Amino acid sequence: MRSYKKESKRLKDSKDAVNSAFRRLGINKKQETIRLVYEISKRDNVKPPDIVRGIPDNFKKIKDELLKRRFPYASLNRQLSRPHLPKLKLDQDSALDLEKSVFYPDNIIAETSASRSKLSDNFRKAFPKAKFSEIKSLKDHLAGKKSSGISDYNKRRGTVFITHENYDFFKKCPCTKMAVGCGYHIFNLSFGCIFDCTYCYLQEYMNVPGLIFPANLDRFFQEFPKYKKPGMRIGTGEFSDSLMLDHITEYSLPIIDFFKKHRDVYFEFKTKSVNIDKVLKANHSGNIVTAWSLNPQSIIDENEFFAPSLKERLKAIKKCADAGYKIACHFDPVIYFNGWEKEYGKVIDMLFDAIKVKDIAWISIGTLRFNPKVKQVIEARFPGNELLDGELVPGFDNKLRYPHSIRHEIYSSMLKMLSKHSKKLPVYLCMENSYMWKELRLRPLCAR
Ligand code: SF4
Repeated sequence: MRSYKKESKRLKDSKDAVNSAFRRLGINKKQETIRLVYEISKRDNVKPPDIVRGIPDNFKKIKDELLKRRFPYASLNRQLSRPHLPKLKLDQDSALDLEKSVFYPDNIIAETSASRSKLSDNFRKAFPKAKFSEIKSLKDHLAGKKSSGISDYNKRRGTVFITHENYDFFKKCPCTKMAVGCGYHIFNLSFGCIFDCTYCYLQEYMNVPGLIFPANLDRFFQEFPKYKKPGMRIGTGEFSDSLMLDHITEYSLPIIDFFKKHRDVYFEFKTKSVNIDKVLKANHSGNIVTAWSLNPQSIIDENEFFAPSLKERLKAIKKCADAGYKIACHFDPVIYFNGWEKEYGKVIDMLFDAIKVKDIAWISIGTLRFNPKVKQVIEARFPGNELLDGELVPGFDNKLRYPHSIRHEIYSSMLKMLSKHSKKLPVYLCMENSYMWKELRLRPLCAR
């Protein structure tokens, strides 16, 4: 298991060091101190006893000293009023098995009303060794079953639910509190993902032990005219990856066809996959946007497990642009590390080597952020990850984020690197406050 042994030993050494150096601390204070010692030890590769040596046994002094060392930038800039220091737990069962890269569900479970659908047939044909069963409804099936959290999430790729959606078709992207929204809308088709990104919010948000795919796309189409607003941007990539299983779901073809009748709307397929064969065969009307989330290869290797490489994604981008699709790129999350600027600069240059400025529909930039609860999930699922070594502190929306000035540095450098290719690119920030938008002199994308 990836670094689990090493990290559990580090945690034990941190506990031993704190217990022997600071005997008078109560349980909660000890817990916070152990976390700080562990995090410093992991990031700086220093032994825990060397971290606590020389610090007086007084909680205020211990905490001040360790916080300064763990979050030097945020401490210096007074951006650390409420550090998030929950109990640190690691256990072998929660760590993700990175060997299981191939997606092959053991169970395909269909609601009775969806069991004879084309989607059910497609899944049965694609996975003939899977056990197929029928349930009356997913809601009844899950009633009384308590999700066991991380271990259920780790097993989710083993089960596919095929459902008949009755009411949850579209919604406005909830964004985050106190942020400038981009006016995006969600076409709520499928829930859950076959990839495993360390930073994904779904690992804490998902409460279903499997991936959900509605079989009645036609009902979404019936409902859409009531929901539609001219000029809107809508897409399927919010609670799932739009194209990850498109060779089986075949969602893309009817969607592309349907939006020929709604040319005043932009529809976005947002993906990390390169599953574009069906999209390339379709005859589209120019309002379909194929979108990729991009990161340097070193970040993909360490954080986007089971997802295609940067080069593969760029190849797919080029093919879609050549087929006349508009392209969107999401630099989200941008991760801050030594040499980040050079690495992201290379990605931007590679992108514009592959396509032309006129192919771009929009570009978003968002820095790493997540609900505080996700931190413990990342630690447990990806022990030894370096993602959490950065200075992530509670931000304007209580999510853990880099301090304001680091985020400002990231956005202004990214904007500069993009403007080398064109000063007219439609760029927006994802989940940022109005203060940041103003400082960067950005204006939200209009009603789209
Ligand atoms: S591709 Fe997107 S939805 Fe899938 S795990 Fe990664 S971040 Fe989550």
